Amino acid sequence: MRLTAFTDVSLRLVMRLAVAEEGERLTTRAASGMLSVPYTHMAKAVARLSDLGIVEARRGRGGGLLLTEAGRASSVGAIVRELEGDGDLAGCEDDPPCPLREACRLRGALAQAREAFYASLDQVTVASLVESPTRRALTLLREPPAGT
Ligand code: SF4
Repeated sequence: MRLTAFTDVSLRLVMRLAVAEEGERLTTRAASGMLSVPYTHMAKAVARLSDLGIVEARRGRGGGLLLTEAGRASSVGAIVRELEGDGDLAGCEDDPPCPLREACRLRGALAQAREAFYASLDQVTVASLVESPTRRALTLLREPPAGT
């Protein structure tokens, strides 16, 4: 199973925000540069994470992105469930739909496997993701120089 790029971008941002210094106000643009993600993708991740109450985006002077207490306490499984949704892992309902979709044991098996994947990530908290050595890697991230 592979995460969507959107979920991965969102988790990168959550991790970076989890190591923010007291008073640090990371902007969406700065986060996109540091995490090597196009600005528009990062802005969409910020909007979705804000809707979920995981990130707070403060506007104006002194504004910026913050990880909420709920976000810090979240399990990775809970976040990934929200971001990935519960669609089929295969293209059962694509256009054209799969002719086996009404009676497919593989479809059920894949749904079960996905739940096991999420259940495993339920054991992982955001706080635990940013322990060593990831914390150091996150704190060393810098925005690329302008024009690159
Ligand atoms: S074979 Fe089953 S799992 Fe695969 S697309 Fe068809 S219905 Fe979905």
